[in-house]
Amino acid sequence: MASDKDTLPDARRRRVQRLKKEILLFFAAAMLISILLCVYLLVKVAALEEKLTALEELARGVQAGAEIGSAEAAEQRIVQNITEEAGTLEALVEAGKASFQPEVEEAGRGEPADGEELPEETVRKVYLTFDDGPSSGTDEILDILAEYDVKATFFVVGKQGDWAQEAYRRIVEEGHTLGMHSYTHDYQQIYASLDAYTEDLLKLQDYLYQVTGVTSVYVRFPGGSSNRVSRTDMRELIVWLEESGFTYYDWNVSAQDASGVKLEPEKIVENCLEGLEKKDNVIILMHDAASKHTTVEALPLLIESIQAMENTELLPITEDTVPVQHVKISQEETEE
Ligand SMILES: [Zn+2]
Repeated sequence: MASDKDTLPDARRRRVQRLKKEILLFFAAAMLISILLCVYLLVKVAALEEKLTALEELARGVQAGAEIGSAEAAEQRIVQNITEEAGTLEALVEAGKASFQPEVEEAGRGEPADGEELPEETVRKVYLTFDDGPSSGTDEILDILAEYDVKATFFVVGKQGDWAQEAYRRIVEEGHTLGMHSYTHDYQQIYASLDAYTEDLLKLQDYLYQVTGVTSVYVRFPGGSSNRVSRTDMRELIVWLEESGFTYYDWNVSAQDASGVKLEPEKIVENCLEGLEKKDNVIILMHDAASKHTTVEALPLLIESIQAMENTELLPITEDTVPVQHVKISQEETEE
C-alpha cells in the first residue's frame, strides 16, 4: 500500500514543502525581529533613564537657584520680623540662663558667700512695655490699664494725625511713660549710620515734645540693642545715647507677639508668666499694633495674674528703673 504522500503528485508535494519552508522562515523572521525590537527598546529605555536623571539634577539646581533668588528678594521685606525675633530669642536665651541661676544658687542657700544676709522678701518689679504704637488698639490698652490702675510704658513711633496725637497725649495724661522707639521704624534707614539714627530719634523726640510737652529720654531700639540688622555698630549708637542723656531699655521677657503668627491670648499670658517667675526685675516686651489684637485680649488676665503674685509691683519705667540691656557698654567706651 502506498502512503498518501506517495500518492500525492510531485508538483503538489513540492508546493507543500515550499509552503512549510515559508511558514518556518516567517516565524523565524518574526522571532528575530521581536528579539531585535526588544534589544532596541531596552537600549532606548536605558538611554532615556540616563537623560531623566540628568534632567532631574538640572531641575534641582534650577529650583535651588530660584530659592536663593527669591530669598534675596524677600530679605528686605522680612528683615524687620527677623530682627524682632532675634531680639526675642536673645531675651529667651537670657531668660533661660536666668532661670538656671537660682537653682545653682540654691545649693549654697542659707550661707551667702560674702556673709551678707539675703533680703527676706525681694519686691519683684514688673514693667509692661508696648512697642510700635500708637495704633487702633492703643485706646483699648489704655482703657484696660486704667481699669486695673496699672501704669505702663509705650515705646512709640512717629505717627501723624489727630488720632495719633490724641493717643500720645492720653498716654502722658494717664501717667504712663512715653518712650521712644523710632520715628520711621525703618531699619534700613535708621541703622545706616549714627547720623541717620540720631536724626530719626531727635525728630521723634521733638515731635512728641510739640504734641505732649514731654521730653522723652527713654529709648528702645527697633529690634533691640542685640539686633543683627544694623549696618552701624550698635555700640556706637549706645555710646551716643548714653552721652546724650538717654537710657535704652531692652527686655528680659517677651510676649512673643511680634512674629507673623497670631498667638492666642492664653499663649501670650503663658509666655509672659513663664519668663517672669524667677526674676525680680522684669521688663516685658509686648506690641501695640493693629494686627496684635490678641495682645489686647491677653492683657486683663496677664495683669490679674501678676497682681495676684506676692511681693510684685507693676510699674512704669522711670529714672529709677534698672534697665535691662542686651548690649553692655563699659565705662571706658563711654569716655572715649
Ligand atoms: Zn518695633
